[in-house]
Amino acid sequence: MNGYHFKPGYVRLHRSGVLKRRGEVLWEILKDCRLCPRECGVNRLEGEKGFCKAGSKLRVASFQAHFGEERPLVGIGGSGTIFLSHCNLGCVFCQNWDLSHQGSGRDCEIEDLASMMLQLQEEGCQNINVVTPTHYSPHVLLALDLAASQGLRLPLVYNTCGWERPDILELLDGVVDIYLADFKYTDPDMARAYSAEAKSYPLVTMSALLEMNRQVGVARSERNGVIYRGLMIRHLVMPGEVSGSMDAMRWIAGSLPADTYVNIMLQYRPAYRAHLYPEIDRPVSRDEYTRVVEEARCFGLTNLDVDI
Ligand code: SF4
Repeated sequence: MNGYHFKPGYVRLHRSGVLKRRGEVLWEILKDCRLCPRECGVNRLEGEKGFCKAGSKLRVASFQAHFGEERPLVGIGGSGTIFLSHCNLGCVFCQNWDLSHQGSGRDCEIEDLASMMLQLQEEGCQNINVVTPTHYSPHVLLALDLAASQGLRLPLVYNTCGWERPDILELLDGVVDIYLADFKYTDPDMARAYSAEAKSYPLVTMSALLEMNRQVGVARSERNGVIYRGLMIRHLVMPGEVSGSMDAMRWIAGSLPADTYVNIMLQYRPAYRAHLYPEIDRPVSRDEYTRVVEEARCFGLTNLDVDI
């Protein structure tokens, strides 16, 4: 596939009116918010706030061409990242805690988000990369619909913590070109301890990854080294096997294609409240990391993005 000829899936859904309708369906869910597995049931349209503290108004922390994402997302022009404020997972070791936990950013209209997407395209970005979009999925789809009507043609990257309700993901089928999904834990007790009681994380995320793979398939770089479509998994190796890395690699190898793209990440650093948990208050050692990579290879995974 030549990137020049790539047409994102959402263009067809925009033309048929389906994209707008999907956005409206998601918007209705805000009245009894169950957009994510927390299922708070609050009426965000009436000003109530759930766990994530997001209201009905979109809040954006920043947007820019980002050159620190995975190489196949950066290309020449960078990944057009849009950092959304607030988060539904709430990890104690969050690197972006000021926007995720404290909600720093500015309130925006749907039209503003569409303008950001178009500006990033104008600047030559490779894709539109919405970071932590789950609690704002209605806003993202409605903005995408508007931007598509004004010529947006970049792939949409859904950059998520992975803890997604599969029935909500079904509404994103054909809308998202690239799922960039974390797979943080395989042990419910770890998810409960470090991500605000989210003990359903492993099971829900496994189901979500299967659904994402069904929708977009394996992420493969084109001849120019860029990925336009597919599932890209990120696994952050944490100190002391907190992230269940061996089980994560085993599960991926046994449940998804062997050439599933997996970025095994070394960059864990204690941040936010990690200093309150001695077992995660240190970086990961090179040995710990290398063992995970070797294990992933032993399980037969062939499309690894590693720091070795
Ligand atoms: S998106 Fe926010 S309010 Fe809605 S269910 Fe999730 S945490 Fe609760």
